[in-house]
Amino acid sequence: MLRFHPWIFSGAIMRVDGKPQEGDLVEVTDCAGNFMALGHYQVGSITVRVLSFVQRDIDQAFYTERLRQAYELRLSLGLADSERTNAYRLVHGEGDGLPGLVIDVYNGTAVVQMHSVGMYCDRKLIETALLEVMGDRLKAIYNKSEGTLPYKAGLNAENLYVYGRPESNEALENGLRFYPDWEKGQKTGFFVDQRDNRALIERYSKGRRVLNMFCYTGGFSLYAMRGGAEAVHSVDSSERAIELTKANVELNFPGDTRHAATAQDAFRFMEETGERFDLMILDPPAFAKHLNVLSNAIKGYRRLNTKALEMIPSGGILFTFSCSQVVSKEVFRTMVFSSAAKAGRRVSILHQLTQPADHPINIYHPEGEYLKGLVLHVL
Ligand code: SAH
Repeated sequence: MLRFHPWIFSGAIMRVDGKPQEGDLVEVTDCAGNFMALGHYQVGSITVRVLSFVQRDIDQAFYTERLRQAYELRLSLGLADSERTNAYRLVHGEGDGLPGLVIDVYNGTAVVQMHSVGMYCDRKLIETALLEVMGDRLKAIYNKSEGTLPYKAGLNAENLYVYGRPESNEALENGLRFYPDWEKGQKTGFFVDQRDNRALIERYSKGRRVLNMFCYTGGFSLYAMRGGAEAVHSVDSSERAIELTKANVELNFPGDTRHAATAQDAFRFMEETGERFDLMILDPPAFAKHLNVLSNAIKGYRRLNTKALEMIPSGGILFTFSCSQVVSKEVFRTMVFSSAAKAGRRVSILHQLTQPADHPINIYHPEGEYLKGLVLHVL
């Protein structure tokens, strides 16, 4: 039985016919020569990223169809034509049947990131598909693949507008305004994957003193403020992130003195602060990008969570996340369990969080489930 996993690893390949170049479209067959899949060839441990398990042309019609399916899903999720939210993920790689491609949309600007040479070679087809599918709703396309393509491929891709120019870089998420910075910011400029989890923070914020650790553009802080927090402190080691957070707070809550922001290392801040926080958010960067550094990453997560669980007063709420693909839900939960035991606190799980529906997980590709979070009640 075929398991439809969209990656074919080098170890599973018996023979390569011809001399495919990175990015070429290749056909995969079984030992008897029967067709199995079509995909982009890569140099590395993932040798083929599968585009189709049926024989078909990978042409304009293919990309337009996949993009249309992706767009229709976002319309049915109430994201692509909403008055309150105009920032969403339109294409989430394997989850949308397009491995190696990520597209986030911010108020009509599509920010495209290609992670494979094959997708980069097909960029014109993808741009045309975006225009066909989104029509007037598409104002600009920014290709931001310089930092995401395999360095060794030597493509010298530049980040640039390939269609139109945005009217503004202001976007909306659940009625809150912010400036995503796709030209200079991390990833595509904003973390749209925390949208639903931010909305949950809003419900817990009333009257609380909130620490938004690893705040980046301050997304969680905006929701906490709207939810009636007594005070919100945003912390990030990057000065630029703190500037972006302040600009976003000012855009929504001009002159609001409940917000403070500090550019400092997370561990140092938690060691040195005398402030008391009864709602804490820990949303660190992926400590582990590869399996070989997993155990160090887990130590890092454990240290962070232990410190937070030691600091938080009785009755406090901790939102804790990991966005490392290689840290499974089970491993994450075991890590939080041992942090709780080390801190010696009574802890219960209130919510188990994941990524939102515009970051779908291909059922044959469990690796696509990268974001996990727990909401803890601490006594
Ligand atoms: N919570 C954010 C996303 C966090 S991304 C959101 O909702 O948008 C991770 C952030 O952690 C980045 O902004 C990065 O600058 C910051 N960071 C990385 N290492 C850090 C450290 N040691 N201390 C504090 N912040 C750190």
